Amino acid sequence: MSHINNPMEIYKLLNGSNCRECNEKTCLAFAVAVFKGKKPIHACPHLDKEVIDRYGGAIEKPNTIDEYKAEAIAMLKHKISLIDLSEAATRLGARFSQNKLTIKVFGKDFSVDTDGNISSEIHINAYMAVPVLNYILNGSGTSPHGKWITFRELAGGPSRYAHFQQCCEKPLKRVADNYTDLFKDMLEIFDGKQMVSHIDSDVSIVLYPLPLLPIMVCYWKPEDGLESSLHIYFDSASDDHLDIESIYTLNEGVVLMFKKIALRHGA
Ligand code: SF4
Repeated sequence: MSHINNPMEIYKLLNGSNCRECNEKTCLAFAVAVFKGKKPIHACPHLDKEVIDRYGGAIEKPNTIDEYKAEAIAMLKHKISLIDLSEAATRLGARFSQNKLTIKVFGKDFSVDTDGNISSEIHINAYMAVPVLNYILNGSGTSPHGKWITFRELAGGPSRYAHFQQCCEKPLKRVADNYTDLFKDMLEIFDGKQMVSHIDSDVSIVLYPLPLLPIMVCYWKPEDGLESSLHIYFDSASDDHLDIESIYTLNEGVVLMFKKIALRHGA
């Protein structure tokens, strides 16, 4: 892993286009934010995986991502305190009573009140909290189309696909390989629905991390010397609810949650 001494070393890795997809005004501002630990280097979607592997761990201090997420959550809660939550509930087909909007996250109640305070029946990690709040702010209320597509087919998906495979699908596959109760948990605890096998997978389970944004997890067991594989599919209406960065972060959070559950069971 390479060591980074100053922001210019990060700047030299960027393409200099100032395209703002990282939500910074310039590549230089992004380099400074990364150096200060305020942004993870993978927030620039134009970097090769080797660059992220080589420099990611050198810059990201253990707490940095959590701090970054905490800032984002505080900002989103503030934005929620400024909107008409009952209108948001109508838009999303959610419940609104006693100044609280309630949606189902994995089938469990998740509420936010008009001051932006959160209460939930399910533990929502920092990764998941950001897209859940974004969904309340920006979700369109469109019903799922019932057509499954890959991450790559989502708007903005191609440039993030390699990271999605690396940070979401592969780690979840490793959990599935080692924690044999994973799919049982998905069905019994996380309100998953077993589907008729999708494209010949051994397991196909639909989960609802957000009420109108289902994901389908398909797993192929190892066979005849071939490694197992796992893919996550999305409904083709997903783009109407969240941008690609939020969909990516939501999946990172979901995988982190299942990893922790598996660890607790010694897998
Ligand atoms: S996304 Fe990458 S290329 Fe675009 S402005 Fe940010 S750092 Fe520069």
